[in-house]
Amino acid sequence: MRTPEVHQKVMDAAKSRRGKRGPLSEIHRRKISESHMGLKPTVDTRMKMSLAKKGKIPTHIWKLHTPEARRKQADSIRGRLHTAEHKKKQSESMKGRHLSEEHKRKLSEVKKGKMPPGGVERLHTKEIHEKIRIALKGRIVPEDQKIKIRIARARQVMPMRDTKIELIVFAYLDSHNVSYCKHKILSDIPHYLYSRHQFDIVVMDRRLIIEVDGCYWHGCSTHFPNPNEYQKWALNRDCIINETIEKNGWEIIRLWEHDINAGNLSELEEVFG
Ligand SMILES: [Zn+2]
Repeated sequence: MRTPEVHQKVMDAAKSRRGKRGPLSEIHRRKISESHMGLKPTVDTRMKMSLAKKGKIPTHIWKLHTPEARRKQADSIRGRLHTAEHKKKQSESMKGRHLSEEHKRKLSEVKKGKMPPGGVERLHTKEIHEKIRIALKGRIVPEDQKIKIRIARARQVMPMRDTKIELIVFAYLDSHNVSYCKHKILSDIPHYLYSRHQFDIVVMDRRLIIEVDGCYWHGCSTHFPNPNEYQKWALNRDCIINETIEKNGWEIIRLWEHDINAGNLSELEEVFG
């Protein structure tokens, strides 16, 4: 990816060329080509480019915000940019609304940063939540939106719950007295994209990583012979993760959901059996 400075330089160069006639000189062309060397697009960019080419996702969705816009957004989220007018409007809109003591307490905790807004404890009552659920049920989410959501989820770093298939693998490792870490981020595997990737299982003393791959989420070829756009992206990502891990002197074993469910842990048996 270009840094903002490089990007500016390129834009300036293009500007100064505007209106000039004639093809690019050989030297100029070589310079451009050299400037692109080593600038491989990231997986994300490639995925976006490929989707955009197919017309599946309008390119504007992926437009990057300028640092300035991002800062503004971040500040506004933190509530710093609320103008006096905005605050007045908000306060007026709240007037006449009766808040229960419980609700007030929650709001105040959210403000103190004790509770993420809408998180952990829901502000909605069960009844309202049920209404929202029903309302959302019949909603058709466009395919491009779905893909975006899936990619965002895949990139999210959050404490993960142990999946059913992970529990099977944990049980196997426990029964073989293997000590391991769950859902671990490895800082010695640097990668511009996956530096925050949580590996499912890490066996530190063997420098071994075990990934427990769900058939859908990782696009297994047995159950998904024709991978969808998300699965293509995931396959590419997993490929890069494998390469990165091995380059850094780690080993990786990937176990498929369908093998684990069928009780086939032969790859683990080769190592620990
Ligand atoms: Zn499968």
